[in-house]
Amino acid sequence: PSITRGVTVEIPKVTWEDIGGPKDLKKKLRQAVEWPIKHSAAFSRLGISPVRGILLHGPPGCSKTTLAKAAAHAAQASFFSLSGAELYSMYVGEGEALLRNTFQRARLVAPSIIFFDEADVVAAKRGGSSSSNITVGERLLSTLLTEMDGLEEAKGILVLAATNRPHAIDAALMRPGRFDLVLYVPLPDLEGRYEILRVHTRNIKIGPDVDLKRIVEDTELFTGAELEGLCREAGIVALREDITATVVCDRHF
Ligand code: ATP
Repeated sequence: PSITRGVTVEIPKVTWEDIGGPKDLKKKLRQAVEWPIKHSAAFSRLGISPVRGILLHGPPGCSKTTLAKAAAHAAQASFFSLSGAELYSMYVGEGEALLRNTFQRARLVAPSIIFFDEADVVAAKRGGSSSSNITVGERLLSTLLTEMDGLEEAKGILVLAATNRPHAIDAALMRPGRFDLVLYVPLPDLEGRYEILRVHTRNIKIGPDVDLKRIVEDTELFTGAELEGLCREAGIVALREDITATVVCDRHF
């Protein structure tokens, strides 16, 4: 049925160990996601309300989606994934219905994480353009605001949103009680790139001459996705050279 188009539900298999990079970012995310679900009694004992929404922003291909999935895995939460662009492109009313329906289903199977990719498309600043499409965005945004405000009583539901354009997000969403936590997911640094290469060469047979440290030096400004691509590509180069190859060597990288 069209109502479930664009939503996928699962408990993801990705773990924190599958992500190379900033330790403090993972720690903050862990606390915000795992604690309220695993220690909800402690929160109510102290009368603290947990974070309801987290905004992840930063350049594309640097693990925002993967972090959200790892968070869901760690909390053993159902993972609902929505794409802002897809919601936006739906027929009139369909996008809002899908949004409401997703929150409803998330409540039923809580703990849940609702992940919005390309959140800026749905949560774009109001006004500004005279295009008639703006009303689509406005309606989606107001539905999202209503649903997020309704999370007060709903325990164990967290909204994670990802964007490359945080400044395009409407200020109404950034108020306390909505996206309380804003985390920047940067391009990986030297250490981050090394960890990412380690993750993505885990299942690849690499030869003893492969020097990940040197590759790290040569890949400044590479995103996580590009480093993953590099590892895959090296394997393909090795096979192209010799289809009976048993290891991937340094020159292939
Ligand atoms: P976009 O903004 O384009 O949606 P994103 O920031 O959500 O990108 P992901 O989709 O999480 O990025 O990452 C893309 C791919 O790159 C994933 O398949 C992931 O395996 C890999 N990747 C990116 N960053 C890392 C990282 N820090 N550690 C391991 N893998 C990474």
